Amino acid sequence: MRPQHPPRPPLAIPQVIPRKRGRRSAKDVVARPFRCTRYGWWNPIMKHTFFDVPALECKCCKEKCPLDFDFNLCGITVNLHKIFGHILDQGNSELCEAFAFAKIMEMTKKIQYLMLAKDPTLIGSLNPFHLFDQYKIMLGGVPATGGTDQTILMAMALKELGIMDNRKSTIYRASNVSTISRNDQQAIVSALANGFPLHATILQGTKLTFLRYCTSYEPPDFFQALKVRAPEDIPCHAIVLVGAVKKKGKLSYYFLNAWKRFCARRSEDGTLLAYGIGKVNANRLYRNVIKVSRFKEAPNERSFTQNMKLNTALLVGDLPRREPTFR
Ligand SMILES: [Zn+2]
Repeated sequence: MRPQHPPRPPLAIPQVIPRKRGRRSAKDVVARPFRCTRYGWWNPIMKHTFFDVPALECKCCKEKCPLDFDFNLCGITVNLHKIFGHILDQGNSELCEAFAFAKIMEMTKKIQYLMLAKDPTLIGSLNPFHLFDQYKIMLGGVPATGGTDQTILMAMALKELGIMDNRKSTIYRASNVSTISRNDQQAIVSALANGFPLHATILQGTKLTFLRYCTSYEPPDFFQALKVRAPEDIPCHAIVLVGAVKKKGKLSYYFLNAWKRFCARRSEDGTLLAYGIGKVNANRLYRNVIKVSRFKEAPNERSFTQNMKLNTALLVGDLPRREPTFR
């Protein structure tokens, strides 16, 4: 008889009483309902799996909500685990789309594992080059065109053929992929607050390379760029949206970028503290964003995750203060 492996011990769920909504993370405290000045309509807090946020505008009259907020999936722990792994580096390759999907799939699987009370550290980093090969297989030898169809087809490859991890042990497939309009800021904010990292595309101006920590990137306007360049000469870049921040009424998204030392944050003596995360103006996404589902029953995912919480509490907390984010 073959020797049996001892069963893997179940993931230790931290024995901490989950904190109340609005107090789960320092970033979660600010959510408040807001009342429009014109009709006095109360717009409730929008409750999500990871963060509660105020509505962006009044439901009755579209008046802009004056409340600011700030949340970032890379700034929290879930059941004491970080959910974004290592910052990737695409190097000289031009596979920003595959790198973005690799990071999204890794984060999605980690969150799925946490919801199923499995150990999220079993999910290692995934291989973007493998996804690109799968994408080429799916195209069946037809050359890629670039553009929006390439993004959507690569998402399809992630669902149909999957992506292998760097240990070459497992292929992970997306349960489903769907799009959200790049202009539907409420839907994008809600998806992010529900813990879905999103694939987005921006135009790549020179300022992106030298983006400084804590500043918000303002991509070139496509039609302005058209005045000086041909459309095929306007470079696009794929990123992963991981959070949203509204400050003085201006909405930006936090994003992960697979560039080495992108947007580095250093201490006064020059020690590197963090890199890889930038901010981008929410009005300047170039293409619709792509969401990767955690579970097959995507339309009912909200009710599903609510039921799940009865068994496995998702405890959202803040990253330890001194911990560098790039490890
Ligand atoms: Zn109103």
